[in-house]
Amino acid sequence: MSRPASTRHSARTRWVVVFMVFVFFDALPYSATGDPLSQRPPRSASEDNRNISESADGFMTQMTPVEARTIAPSVHQATGVSNTQLIDTGDSVVLFDSGLAIQATAQKKALLSTVGEKPVSHIVLSHSHQDHVGGTPFWEEANTVIVAHREFTEEQRYLKELEPYLHDRNRALFPWMPEEPITAGPMAFGTVKPTLLVDDETPYVFEQGGIRFEIIPTPGAEGTDNLSLWLPKQKILLVGDTLGPIFPQFPNIFTMRGEKTRKPIEYIQTLDRLIALEPEILVPSHRDPIVGKETIREGLTRIRDAVRYVHDETVRGMNEGKTVWQLMEEVQLPPELSLSQVHGRVSWSVRSIWEYYATWFHFDSTTELYTVSPREVYADVGRIAGPERLSQHARELLDQGKPLNALHLCEIALAADPTFQPALQVQRNALSELLDQARSTFENSYEIIWLQQEIRKTDQALSMK
Ligand SMILES: [Zn+2]
Repeated sequence: MSRPASTRHSARTRWVVVFMVFVFFDALPYSATGDPLSQRPPRSASEDNRNISESADGFMTQMTPVEARTIAPSVHQATGVSNTQLIDTGDSVVLFDSGLAIQATAQKKALLSTVGEKPVSHIVLSHSHQDHVGGTPFWEEANTVIVAHREFTEEQRYLKELEPYLHDRNRALFPWMPEEPITAGPMAFGTVKPTLLVDDETPYVFEQGGIRFEIIPTPGAEGTDNLSLWLPKQKILLVGDTLGPIFPQFPNIFTMRGEKTRKPIEYIQTLDRLIALEPEILVPSHRDPIVGKETIREGLTRIRDAVRYVHDETVRGMNEGKTVWQLMEEVQLPPELSLSQVHGRVSWSVRSIWEYYATWFHFDSTTELYTVSPREVYADVGRIAGPERLSQHARELLDQGKPLNALHLCEIALAADPTFQPALQVQRNALSELLDQARSTFENSYEIIWLQQEIRKTDQALSMK
């Protein structure tokens, strides 16, 4: 990072926000056109970096203003990067998710100006990601019960222990993030301490001011520690990130930024449980509530059936002896189960399901078991075949509409000579074609971000000749 220390400090607040948005949750910001806001068509690397920063600012100031709104009598919401929900029980309030730390003061002010100053009896946390728990210190009082899933502690533990690794990985995807994770103060990850843990064996139901609260474990798609809050009298279901940022969508069983593999069957059971409630209003912690019993039932059912389909087809293919590559190609949602893959991508989920069940050893090659990496062998092959010849053939493959095959050859050529311009140029074109494909098919945000980063890196290598 080449910026001077003074600018680094003045930009810190902005970066903290973006850092939290991207590191600890799965809801990427989207523009009105459905593209991730952080993205612009790549030009020069410096232009791209500036665009990213500007987009991040725009995201905060334009796309996620803090405003209080009333969803139903006694049920209020403060919008933001992540919404905070407040249920007014008369003498006190119950909070569901506390949002990002940096927006907590504004969200609290907006909500309390709606209902007045009242004690906070409970803060229910939908899961341990920082955009849902970050505001907790701003709301917590001496007698506040902080409710979380029993797995919350374990999720926080491993994310904290792997923070340096995951931070680097996230920073590779999102280069405007701070150079180091925030490790001190209220914005540091891992500081929230639940006081009441809930799971299937120890559900938590309480009544306050005539309102019944049922805390429901809903693990599966966005982590093992997902909780939902059900208000049975109002038929309102507050789901946090259980259904992701878009409804309905194919879930993020696999996260590119890195997290433990999520369990498809657990998620199917969660969806069964939510469908049985017959909610009439669905309140995710990102974006707007969804209203309408039939719309919600249809969406939940479609998500459940799509996950079931992908799971079953993957397992069937595994038992038939197909390779993971074949199944990533073959398993596609049938038209009646089609869903947005902007967030979760079916082919990546196929591979996740495979490796969740069968581990990383695919019984494919002895070399899988040992320590010589394919990259090391690539360098040998590249030298033997010659980068020029490989690049020429890669260009022909690209012309034949095979950008992935071309990319493989470019990687072999570049393993032998990382600065070989013809290989870099073909790689650049192959990545651009993949990006065009990504935009014209599933518009998966993570795929688009990854390809744009790879194009940026290739451009840098090309300009360094
Ligand atoms: Zn989130």
